[in-house]
Amino acid sequence: MKLSFRRRIATYFMISTAIIIALVFGTVYYIVQKTVYYNLDKDVSIEAEDHRAKVEMNQRGILYFVNKKHLLASEHTQAQVNPVFIQLIDLNGNFIDKSPNLKQNVLRLKSTHEDGAHYNTSLNGHPIRQVQIKVQLNGKKVGHLLAAMSLEASLMVLKNLRNTLFILYPIILLGLFFISSLLAGRSIQPVVSIIETTDRITKKNLDQRVDLPAKRDELYTLSVSINALLQRIENAMVRERQFTSDASHELRTPISILRGTLEILLRKPRSAEEYHAKIQESLTEVDRLALILDQLLDLARNDESTAFYANEKQSAVKIMNEIIARQSPVAEEQQVSIHFQPEKQFNSVQINAFYGTTILENILSNAIKYSKEKSEVKVDFELTEDAFVCHIQDFGIGIEEEDLVHIFQPFFRSDALKHKSIKGTGLGLSIVQKAAKAIQAEISVKSELGKGTVFSIQFHDFLSQS
Ligand code: ADP
Repeated sequence: MKLSFRRRIATYFMISTAIIIALVFGTVYYIVQKTVYYNLDKDVSIEAEDHRAKVEMNQRGILYFVNKKHLLASEHTQAQVNPVFIQLIDLNGNFIDKSPNLKQNVLRLKSTHEDGAHYNTSLNGHPIRQVQIKVQLNGKKVGHLLAAMSLEASLMVLKNLRNTLFILYPIILLGLFFISSLLAGRSIQPVVSIIETTDRITKKNLDQRVDLPAKRDELYTLSVSINALLQRIENAMVRERQFTSDASHELRTPISILRGTLEILLRKPRSAEEYHAKIQESLTEVDRLALILDQLLDLARNDESTAFYANEKQSAVKIMNEIIARQSPVAEEQQVSIHFQPEKQFNSVQINAFYGTTILENILSNAIKYSKEKSEVKVDFELTEDAFVCHIQDFGIGIEEEDLVHIFQPFFRSDALKHKSIKGTGLGLSIVQKAAKAIQAEISVKSELGKGTVFSIQFHDFLSQS
């Protein structure tokens, strides 16, 4: 059987209460029983002692009660609420005398019980509490005195108490179960409202939020966390939508240029030079398409951030030398020289190979791309207290101050129309930003329009022997 959360709380509460109530009821019954027997035993013992003091032996060696009148007193003759039965027997167990209220009945001596012990037995089918004490005259044991009282009333009290407790027990538990399940139901009401709201939320109405409970308790915190989660999901969805529309727009542009160029070529026969020029144009657009696709794939792969990529570290100097080797042909074409002469102390510095390469290669290729002809790109390493920093400086076109906050957004190209000849997709730096986030690296940019730009990348996750 599947229990609801509310019923489960009520059940756990009831089980623990059932154990506690059973212990309390058991203790109450035990104390009442002990008290009843204690009082009975005390009364029976007083009577027994009282009568023993009045036992004597005559000259023939026969025991008798000195004051027989006392035995005949009303308490032993009349039917009373709780009469005391007295009986005297000699050492051989022969009956000598008894109180008149015993009539034809006799009390039986129990040889298995010690003198002074109290025990339950019966008289003519009725339960009695009995005590037997020895009778001594001149220091010699001469017989036994038995005293007993009816147990019926006491047993009735105990039976009533037991029955009452047995009837009360399930009633109290049932009552508690209903009350606690009602209270549990009320206290989880905010959870029910959270479930209702979250059930209503779909991809289309992600702007809905869970109502916050009035009390600032754990459920309030839970609701706040769920709302924050919804906000993050909504932001991600908006970003994804924006990215998809930007991506499709960016891909469509080169495709339509390509289509237009090919259509123009088909319209009428052209000279060889014209064919050559148009095909060259088309190839440029195909290259651009391939570049956009590559970078989109890079972005998607960065999102996966697999453990394999995340862990491997390599020498920062080696990584930079490999990047420079790859970028040299482009730099040479633009007559840009790359200056990188790291000091020996950086030979032992290691950074994340995959993300480190992604970050540094994109920034260096931009530095070359946006450099003025015959200028220089400087790469410097630095070790600060808590980071390994790489500065990449160019003396190129620079970035307008108001654009600095946008350059990491996908497809953003600062002042793209002014430098149309510089090819790009606007995706490089958003890839850089994702990679930096994956390894908690920080990137800062300083730029002066027309003078140049410095990108500084702080790697906090690095190894160094010095
Ligand atoms: P792109 O493919 O256009 O280079 P990026 O995301 O790499 O895309 O860069 C975004 C924009 O930031 C670029 O279009 C450019 O305007 C600007 N930018 C990036 N690096 C530099 C730089 N070193 N100098 C000048 N502008 C830069």
